[in-house]
Amino acid sequence: MCRPDGPPCLWLWIDPRAVRMCVSQGAYRDDNGKPVVLECVREAERRIAGNMNMEYLPMGGSIKMIEESLKLAYGEDSEFIQDKRIAAVQALSGTGACRLFADFQKRFLPESQIYIPTPTWANHHNIWRDAQVPKRAFTYYHPESRGLDFAGLMNDIKNAPDGSFFLLHACAHNPTGVDPSEEQWREISHQFKVKNHFPFFDMAYQGFASGDPERDAKAIRIFLEDGHQIGCAQSYAKNMGLYGQRAGCLSILCDDEMQAVAVKSQLQQIARPMYSNPPIHGALIVSTILGDPELKGLWLKEVKGMADRIIGMRKALKENLEKLGSPMSWEHTTNQIGMFCYSGMTPEQVDRLTNEFHIYMTRNGRISMAGVTTGNVAYLANAIHEVTK
Ligand code: PLP
Repeated sequence: MCRPDGPPCLWLWIDPRAVRMCVSQGAYRDDNGKPVVLECVREAERRIAGNMNMEYLPMGGSIKMIEESLKLAYGEDSEFIQDKRIAAVQALSGTGACRLFADFQKRFLPESQIYIPTPTWANHHNIWRDAQVPKRAFTYYHPESRGLDFAGLMNDIKNAPDGSFFLLHACAHNPTGVDPSEEQWREISHQFKVKNHFPFFDMAYQGFASGDPERDAKAIRIFLEDGHQIGCAQSYAKNMGLYGQRAGCLSILCDDEMQAVAVKSQLQQIARPMYSNPPIHGALIVSTILGDPELKGLWLKEVKGMADRIIGMRKALKENLEKLGSPMSWEHTTNQIGMFCYSGMTPEQVDRLTNEFHIYMTRNGRISMAGVTTGNVAYLANAIHEVTK
């Protein structure tokens, strides 16, 4: 529930007393609707406290945090890490990682464009627009099935000029919650190889989708197996709950160590006039957690707990709607994965939810499942039923 004394809600300033539910914001809440600080984060902070100085990090950020991030994305025993083929810098969370990459693309491949899925996280458009990289759309979502338009996606990959840049959501696609299956990823990777396209993975939800960071990195691992060079934006906002710490990592897999050194140096050159060097505190939390087997174990348990709660709420929402006798199919509610449920409701139906039931969400029908709890899921289901029957 959104209350003036509760967690921040985008809509409170409009309608402070009437808000019954806020399911717009992409930030995890517990089953009481409260923001969560993970226990592994609390413990990392206890260990850091009194032990850190406030010096600048190097321009590229914390070496330890980058090392741990690469292991998470590319695999603990990745040959690419051992061969030092990955250029990587700490970034200002996932957004900053995307923006650094977009600026890099503009500077070194000024004629290139970026293919962005329809739909996508709205900020992707802003990021590549402000970096002045021309944007093209590729087919992703199939409104009728509320699933993946795989044929359309493959067609667009085939029809793009050879060597195009594509932005791919590594897991838990925002806003649709629709991810390709492992088999589909293999086909996508194969077609990328044929066309010599460059995949840039935005991985804002590793661990948050399935509850297992290894499983959520599957798409990336498939592309690596197939010998692609890739780019990857990582964020610790959702999977460690470090939203405001702005902890993330940008990596680019290169031909060899020499190229990786050069690329890293250029990424640092782009970062230098923007913010000189990234913030230290979040990076220390991440490296303390991932660098300690006991704390990492606790994190894995906690991230699974968050993912499981969201998966449980998807089931509960579907069951409630079915119990109410909804004539519509709500299969997509549980087929989709991650923080968001792309409900398929029209903007007019969302307006009714807001005006009549004081439930706030984006007008594209996206429900942030993180805001759904055992205490409000029946209210939400009833309201959805009322506006969709
Ligand atoms: N990419 C996607 C797909 C997202 O959904 C988000 C956050 O909502 C981000 C990137 C960036 O998040 P942050 O900059 O907080 O890490």
